[in-house]
Amino acid sequence: MEQVDCIVVGAGVVGLAIARALALAGREVLILEQAEAVGTETSARNSEVIHAGIYYPRDSLMARFCVEGRTALYHYARERGVAHRTCGKLIVATDASEIDLLAGIQARAAANGVGDLRLLSASEARALEPALQCAGALLSPSTGIVDSHGYMLALLGDAENDGATLACHAPVLSARAIADGFEVEVGGDDPMRLGCKLLINSAGLHAPALARAIEGLPREKIPREYFARGNYFTLAGRSPFSRLIYPVPVPGGLGTHLTLDLGGQAKFGPDVEWIEKIDYTVDPRRGEGFYAAIRRYWPDLPDGALQPGYSGIRPKIVPPGAPGQDFVIQGPRDHGLPGLVNLFGIESPGLTSSLALAEHVVTLTRA
Ligand SMILES: Cc1cc2nc3c(=O)[nH]c(=O)nc-3n(C[C@H](O)[C@H](O)[C@H](O)COP(=O)(O)OP(=O)(O)OC[C@H]3O[C@@H](n4cnc5c(N)ncnc54)[C@H](O)[C@@H]3O)c2cc1C
Repeated sequence: MEQVDCIVVGAGVVGLAIARALALAGREVLILEQAEAVGTETSARNSEVIHAGIYYPRDSLMARFCVEGRTALYHYARERGVAHRTCGKLIVATDASEIDLLAGIQARAAANGVGDLRLLSASEARALEPALQCAGALLSPSTGIVDSHGYMLALLGDAENDGATLACHAPVLSARAIADGFEVEVGGDDPMRLGCKLLINSAGLHAPALARAIEGLPREKIPREYFARGNYFTLAGRSPFSRLIYPVPVPGGLGTHLTLDLGGQAKFGPDVEWIEKIDYTVDPRRGEGFYAAIRRYWPDLPDGALQPGYSGIRPKIVPPGAPGQDFVIQGPRDHGLPGLVNLFGIESPGLTSSLALAEHVVTLTRA
């Protein structure tokens, strides 16, 4: 059986950031990806927003890694020439009843160390964004957007420069704890059995399924997966906004917000649609709900301006209606298997948090 020091399962943004961090720390790394290329699942199907760290409960992993990860990501993008823009965002109260919610969001952000939010009156907000209808708004100047694919290619390049190897079409089928590591069954084009000392389960939506296929891992440590699709609709024509526009959050998501790509194209979403299995089809009929939600802050949205775009699926580990979940990152102290790290529920802000998550995983592997 061939031996390798570390196997990272999954070449999404988080797996790639972990592979890079392990390779930089001097470890031999093999990245196994079941798809034909890196970043074809959730990492390619998101809003590409660099979140400031506003909404997450104080002391949660999401709050900590989002704030640390945001700073690290801006720094990395500048250093490595990854396209990004600190465009800022407005969180809008669409009527007077929501003004108090803005103050609560500002307080929560400050508790997370995000102290740069500014409360704006309706006229101050409209001075920034004339097309906006609102009763007041919060300006987040440190929110931005990033080319997520360019970012993933930079992470992969770094990892490979430090000796990591990527194998695509290489689904991990199962693993078994053995003395001093794991025996890993790989399927696909070139089926093989590999031995490794360190196994990182960064399989995104499939992480709980992969964990169930790891012999020796206590079943009670594996969360059940749930899927919450987020559908996007794109705007035909130019965006009248130059900042991201978010309503106050709704249960399960951040509300039907407007985000921009680096070319200035606007998209709206993601909404929240609980589904039974992975399916990225966007139902055009959901557009009706989008018009109503968007017109609360942009009344002049023309009829027929929205087109079905794409969707992404949140890797939930709590069912609909349950209180929000935090990232779950299990190291040997949590599940008792030396050399295994599982990452569950890495939904938003996973892209923003990726570099900080990776550092944390490296720390767990040293424990
Ligand atoms: C709708 C939506 C919007 C979002 N918007 C934002 C945002 O604006 N900002 C932000 O910070 N975050 C955002 N996120 C969150 C962010 O996209 C994710 O946290 C991040 O992409 C997760 O990366 P990942 O590497 O964990 O998972 P993935 O990108 O899903 O990668 C997992 C990889 O593992 C592979 N894999 C799975 N099983 C196996 C196996 N058995 N063998 C080999 N390979 C396997 C898959 O093929 C996949 O490539 C959003 C998420 C969603 C759903």
